[in-house]
Amino acid sequence: MGDGSLELSPEAMRSLGYRVVDLLVEHATTLRDQHAGCTTDRATLEKLLREPPPEQGSDPETVLERLERDVFFHMGRVHHPRFFAFVPSPSNFVGVLGDALAAGHNVFAGTWIESSGPATLELVTIDWLRELCGMGSSAGGLFVSGGSMASLTALAVARHERLDDDFRGAVAYGSDQTHTAIDRALKVLGFTHEQFRRLPSDDGYRLDVATLGEAVVADRAAGRRPFCVIANGGTTNTGAVDPLGQLADFCAAEHLWLHVDAAYGGAAVLTDRGRTALAGLGRADSLALDPHKWLFQPYEIGCVLVQEPRALARTFAVRADYLRDVEGETQEINFADYGIQLTRSFRALKLWLSIQVFGLAAFREAVEKGLDYAEHAETVFRGSSAWQVVTRAQLGVVTFRYAPSGLSDSEADRISAALVRASIDDGFTMVSSTTLDGRVVLRFCPINPRTTIGDIDASIARLETLAAGLMQTGAGR
Ligand SMILES: *Cc1c(COP(=O)(O)O)cnc(C)c1O
Repeated sequence: MGDGSLELSPEAMRSLGYRVVDLLVEHATTLRDQHAGCTTDRATLEKLLREPPPEQGSDPETVLERLERDVFFHMGRVHHPRFFAFVPSPSNFVGVLGDALAAGHNVFAGTWIESSGPATLELVTIDWLRELCGMGSSAGGLFVSGGSMASLTALAVARHERLDDDFRGAVAYGSDQTHTAIDRALKVLGFTHEQFRRLPSDDGYRLDVATLGEAVVADRAAGRRPFCVIANGGTTNTGAVDPLGQLADFCAAEHLWLHVDAAYGGAAVLTDRGRTALAGLGRADSLALDPHKWLFQPYEIGCVLVQEPRALARTFAVRADYLRDVEGETQEINFADYGIQLTRSFRALKLWLSIQVFGLAAFREAVEKGLDYAEHAETVFRGSSAWQVVTRAQLGVVTFRYAPSGLSDSEADRISAALVRASIDDGFTMVSSTTLDGRVVLRFCPINPRTTIGDIDASIARLETLAAGLMQTGAGR
């Protein structure tokens, strides 16, 4: 070290590498005993971390120790077996090593000339997902950073294909349960707030086709240009799935682009229950899914699929003189022409590697477990007078409220909201909240295959104790 080459000796590389692996294995094997969520205040963390860049290097061992203690300790463990908040990312160790391999080989996955092997493996892995989602053999897509980028990419294609990029007066539709990633994507693409209609969902929190039809008729009558419908393949709030088959019929008849945001829910197509819930998914013009959620990959990996991959090229391909060497033959796929990133990492590797090592059957079982666990949690909530189930278990999500008899709605709102914070402070388990019909509702998303039934029962019991404690301290009033 210190000669300006930024190199380590082979022995030092091995010893640092082994140390990192040891730390990761230690983390994975002690996770159950760690805090599920740990959020520290800014002032404390500034005191630990604020400093100018060190002019001289130091012993990596000391740096790693500090990193574990001062950085990694202070975070939610989204892969903890009792983390049921938001959408967990249960990840897997083989996928983690896939990221290490991709970084170590420094794959430039933007052009064929730089990464023909990795590009072929991405084509293969994308094709697995395409087939699982029930899209035809001519469909295709690419990996991006996550669900938000997947939907942004897809909606750019919708804008190009249906509006020829002239979006004056254009209107897109979704339900009031649509993820805010869609609002942001449309905003980035230049649409105003008024150009996205968030239609009231039905009593199952699904987009209602009749309501949609009326809105489209009214917009056309007013001279506006409906072009796209965004459906949910599992809402983040409740796991509800919009009527995908009916929406596909409607969109085909009305010449509207159908984008399905299946970011977290799409993985359920691995199972019979999920395929039934998501019937019609493969008829979407485009869809977004997030392997870094329920396909157990470390961040970041999202996937966008479209019926006609050439539409991606029509939307994104540009010619730059400095890239003339990469244009090559048509069979040579330059993924940089199919999306927003030129330099892109080899995200396909972690998914491919973990499916190779564990087999798809293991993934299917892992997703089945999440569906079972949510149903089990629903049963436990129904069996207790402390809780009220708000929406049944759907695609691994159940929503519930603290509602012992005698508690008013507004008191239940306050306790339910305070319970999220109390669960984080307590650290045993973590849940999150949302609002449905103006009321605070708790969400339980048990999709981690390392979770046990015992974890779920103990977590719900702990929440009940914490809620009773909040009642005593008067948090409900
Ligand atoms: C998580 C999620 C998103 C956003 O995906 P990111 O990977 O966080 O960018 C969008 N839509 C739905 C339904 C989601 O669950």
